[in-house]
Amino acid sequence: MHEFGFAMQIFKVAEATAIKYNAKKISEVYLEIGELTLIVPELLKQSFKMATHGSIAEGAELIIEIVPGKIKCRECGEISKVSLSQESYLTGLQLFQCQHCESKNTEIIEGKKANVKNIKIQE
Ligand SMILES: [Zn+2]
Repeated sequence: MHEFGFAMQIFKVAEATAIKYNAKKISEVYLEIGELTLIVPELLKQSFKMATHGSIAEGAELIIEIVPGKIKCRECGEISKVSLSQESYLTGLQLFQCQHCESKNTEIIEGKKANVKNIKIQE
């Protein structure tokens, strides 16, 4: 369960911030999720609900912004936008092709990270 582990991480970050500001409740959590993390937003929301049950963040809403994936080509140096195909979901394979020269010798430069951007609290 990829999403549950991540939900726990989000919860810990949000909770630490809430404690720092003496908040009684966390009402919203803003997230930035790279498209290439393979995190499924709906599953993440469900996991977050489970992870926060009975806590300061119970009932908090997750607001998710998806950051598109970007690759840089090692052959021609150009940057391409990529999105995950159905196949890469199924196999976990992430070989991206440069949209300029069609080389597969590329590296991911964006879209592999997930961060808590902001939280909204009630004091
Ligand atoms: Zn290229």
